[in-house]
Amino acid sequence: MDEMGKEIPREAPWRAPHALEWDNMTMQQLFDKICWTSAVRRFATLFVNVNVTSEPHEVSALWFLWYVKQCGGTMRIFSTTNGGQERKFAGGSSQISECMAKELGERVKLQSPVHRIDQSGDMVVVETVNKQTYTARYVIVATPPGLILKMHFNPELPPLRNQLIYRVPMGSVIKCMVYYKENFWRKKGYCGTMVIEEEGAPIGLTLDDTKPDGTVPAIMGFILARKCRKLADLTKEERLET
Ligand SMILES: Cc1cc2nc3c(=O)[nH]c(=O)nc-3n(C[C@H](O)[C@H](O)[C@H](O)COP(=O)(O)OP(=O)(O)OC[C@H]3O[C@@H](n4cnc5c(N)ncnc54)[C@H](O)[C@@H]3O)c2cc1C
Repeated sequence: MDEMGKEIPREAPWRAPHALEWDNMTMQQLFDKICWTSAVRRFATLFVNVNVTSEPHEVSALWFLWYVKQCGGTMRIFSTTNGGQERKFAGGSSQISECMAKELGERVKLQSPVHRIDQSGDMVVVETVNKQTYTARYVIVATPPGLILKMHFNPELPPLRNQLIYRVPMGSVIKCMVYYKENFWRKKGYCGTMVIEEEGAPIGLTLDDTKPDGTVPAIMGFILARKCRKLADLTKEERLET
């Protein structure tokens, strides 16, 4: 995957020499071509599941290879040492938006979903479902792409932009924390990472989630893609049983 990534330009993946061929192929089709053993096939599937919370048959090979390259390659995206899975925000990442909201004060409007954006005049007019309107020179829409479909634009968004929104699906992931009385895995010299490939097991990958100061011993597990969709409808009680 890293070798293939080398030929993909970061800023313009569509200019890669094999761009058309690889974009016409899913990661599943690529794995069927290049993975010779079932062990490799299983790990390759998990690698896609973990990194983009989707199944290999759901993603374009060109897009996934480009994504992995952008994250520093197959080792860096996956590693807990000098890699994508290494760090957490002490106190949680929501502090960023919470601190920004504190500074902005009353200008932050909660419980006010935008349903109309009118750009027909000199200023942009934004209307919320609770009938409030706001006027601005520019608007930055920072929702997941699919939710833009719930907003009415005047003038309409360009056709290709609409097509893009329809074709950028969301992945599926549930994070599951299990707390322990003591950090028994560290005592045994283990890092707490487990790769679980069994189809019947909901969790595919675990990471040590103990606080940086060593308190609250915990292991976090990812429930990914097909397994997440299978379990998403369960009630709290049913989840506990599973
Ligand atoms: C279970 C799970 C675990 C994850 N774990 C990690 C992790 O460990 N590390 C990591 O880096 N990333 C993780 N992610 C991904 C990370 O959470 C997202 O990439 C990130 O939150 C995206 O931020 P965002 O601001 O782009 O979008 P969002 O956080 O989705 O924010 C969009 C906001 O838009 C608001 N909104 C929607 N519609 C409207 C509307 N019509 N009008 C006004 N507002 C609207 C929403 O209420 C929301 O507040 C995880 C995601 C999930 C689901």
